[in-house]
Amino acid sequence: KHFKPKYQKTKVFRANEPLLSVFMWGINHTIVEQTHVNIPVMLMPEDFKAFSKVKVDNHHFNKENLPSHFKVKEYCPLVFRNLRDRFGIDEGEYMNSLSKSQPVVVESPGRSGAHFYQSFDKMFIIKTLLSEEVEQMHVYLKQYHPYIVERHGKTLLPQYLGMYRLTVDGVETYLVVMRNVFSSPLSIHKKYDLKGKDVVTLKDNDFVKDGKVVHIGPEAKEKIMNILSYDIEFLCKLNVMDYSLLLGVHNCEKAEQERAEAMEADGSGGENGGPLPTDEDEDSAGSGLVAVVPTPPDSPQTAVPPVVEPFDPDRDIYAINSCEGAPKKEVYFMALVDVLTHYGMRKRTAQAAKTVKHGSGAEISTVHPEQYARRLMDFISKIIQ
Ligand code: AMP
Ligand code: AMP
Repeated sequence: KHFKPKYQKTKVFRANEPLLSVFMWGINHTIVEQTHVNIPVMLMPEDFKAFSKVKVDNHHFNKENLPSHFKVKEYCPLVFRNLRDRFGIDEGEYMNSLSKSQPVVVESPGRSGAHFYQSFDKMFIIKTLLSEEVEQMHVYLKQYHPYIVERHGKTLLPQYLGMYRLTVDGVETYLVVMRNVFSSPLSIHKKYDLKGKDVVTLKDNDFVKDGKVVHIGPEAKEKIMNILSYDIEFLCKLNVMDYSLLLGVHNCEKAEQERAEAMEADGSGGENGGPLPTDEDEDSAGSGLVAVVPTPPDSPQTAVPPVVEPFDPDRDIYAINSCEGAPKKEVYFMALVDVLTHYGMRKRTAQAAKTVKHGSGAEISTVHPEQYARRLMDFISKIIQ
């Protein structure tokens, strides 16, 4: 058994694609640089136009891990630092989550054509943007920031935490970092993308059969409906629509079963519930679950899922337990996603471009933001019990 000193692990930016190693380098660089910048008492209009840029040309330096030439641009650094603070995200933790070990590709979940990664510890989601979306984010941020201030960070809107442009081999990639709705170690058994009109189910269609699926009780329901009503009113004011409620369901019984099966396959009988978490792990970059159940290099390859533990409410802020008397013991994860489509705006995404090319119909909605909002609220109110 061998341990590697921590410093080696934190600063090498080793990744299996140059884009990711540059991203890790860029996160590290921008956060460290910012520690030398005074935190202003309040943000100024120019902070919403500001950026920082760095160009790196290495000659035979760390070339196993980093390309020799790359550029990193961070948009609105002070605004995002302020947002991270308001969302309770520590700068050091942000930096470590995104640069200690490489982010992992998430199977492209949406229709948008964007690429998604999640940080190795599942805390953050990294999403690629088009340059038009970067432009739009600048407009959106000017409204979004005051709203987050006013709501004291209490929101189900995406938590935007940083926006970057990386240039590798002359190719520009735009990225935005958000809090992961599914940061918890609990596995998500069902995922839904709810838009109020047609239910787009990502994995299952029990939803339509079941009708009511979210059993959290009247008190928790009122709390969440209240937060949603502020958020959705905000989106309405901005003429935004077509957003969805992302809902993930963890089924506790099923998780127990999966665990039992995995232990059987593992053959160990599992006296202490699987491998104990260790901090240093040779192969930690490959799996999204690494922070929770790292597999020591010498143990069998079967992954035994963790004992169903309560989530950490400070970290897994979107998680809600099913209430007493619910038909099934479950944990729900809910938040709004895809909040950047304006009324009348054609969705300028890769998928939309494809649709247009193949001539299969317009993407422009026929309902107005207010109708859209009302319909979604009604729908959510119906499915939560
Ligand atoms: P660039 O950073 O020059 O690659 O720009 C990417 C996209 O973001 C382009 O559509 C720009 O028009 C837009 N953009 C960049 N900086 C700003 C800014 N300060 N305000 C508004 N839009 C911006
Ligand atoms: P979007 O392109 O924002 O509509 O997102 C497409 C899909 O990506 C969603 O339906 C989710 O499955 C996933 N996703 C987007 N944002 C997040 C997030 N912050 N946390 C977890 N999953 C997300």
